[in-house]
Amino acid sequence: AQVIFSGIQPTGIPHLGNYLGALQQWKRLQDGAAPDTKLLYSIVDLHAITLPQQASNLRQWKREMLASLLAVGLDPERSIIFYQSSVPAHAELMWILSCTASMGYLSRMTQWKSKLSLAEDTSFLDDKAKASLKLGLFSYPVLQAADILVHRATHVPVGEDQRQHLEFARECATNFNHTFGPHLIPPETIVSPAKRVMSLQQPTQKMSKSHPDPRSRILLTDTPEEIRKKIASALTDSTNAVSYDPQARPGVSNLVQLLALFSEDNGRGPSKSPAEVAAELEGATLKELKARVADAVIAGIGGIRDRFYDFMQRDGGKYLDDVQERGAVRARENSDRTMGLVRPAVGF
Ligand code: ATP
Ligand code: MG
Repeated sequence: AQVIFSGIQPTGIPHLGNYLGALQQWKRLQDGAAPDTKLLYSIVDLHAITLPQQASNLRQWKREMLASLLAVGLDPERSIIFYQSSVPAHAELMWILSCTASMGYLSRMTQWKSKLSLAEDTSFLDDKAKASLKLGLFSYPVLQAADILVHRATHVPVGEDQRQHLEFARECATNFNHTFGPHLIPPETIVSPAKRVMSLQQPTQKMSKSHPDPRSRILLTDTPEEIRKKIASALTDSTNAVSYDPQARPGVSNLVQLLALFSEDNGRGPSKSPAEVAAELEGATLKELKARVADAVIAGIGGIRDRFYDFMQRDGGKYLDDVQERGAVRARENSDRTMGLVRPAVGF
């Protein structure tokens, strides 16, 4: 039977990139899953503290993320939805994997990370902040591997930015199995059709929750007016015509891609490619393109916002407490199975 696992950091309200690259896929997998498929979706708060966080913010963001997942259509009866820190086995397996994972591989990846993601995702950090980056940021791919392996995931749906970390997770499983016996399962990666939604303000960088410029992303809780405003002010270029060429025209191509990604509502995935959408819009101005994109986004995520506020308030917050508590119990049970194999294999 399949086991599907994925996670999202409680570092803010999810944006269009999170939705199209991850959450929409999570819901599709849930709705199309065979009865014996297990689905686990984690709000990964241990990962969230790799950059400084205030405890009160983190607590609020976790609740907001939980309400967001429910608002997107994840069903807590069908899917196991839980806070990572409620399942101590994640951290325990991380330590064990740290003792068989290759430092070289990790530092090559971190170098990759510092060259690509760090330059992309955290270019806004000043030199002092960069110099004080913490050990946890270096080793968090090991925690990510533990998240996946502790639940015996067979399939992990993610956006393109996580592909390399998933390769590393497979490597962690192989290294562990080689040393201690065949107890862990190397997972398959499912990269969503929306590989990478780009920032509206710096379209060569991916859209990100933790980027300080709120105009760079559209949140699932933005009002239609906010969505129109952000798309209207999205950075494009000086050619007032529509085409799809991500290298030469990253801003315009990102908008065209968004239109393509919302070109359906049957739960199966986009019906048009960006090139087809661009061809249809031959002769349109950028202003017309932006209006079309705004309409499509507003229609595409409509309803999520109202459901979000409903879940946040339901039973004075008790509903969310109950959902996460039941999720934690089921997730602990699931991880106990793996630790029951791993601990004796190691000698504990
Ligand atoms: P942070 O800036 O805090 O890292 P994030 O926006 O990168 O936030 P994550 O919680 O790190 O979000 O990632 C959650 C999921 O969303 C992952 O599967 C990731 O691949 C996907 N994802 C994140 N950003 C994008 C994007 N711009 N386009 C497509 N998928 C994305
Ligand atoms: Mg991220």
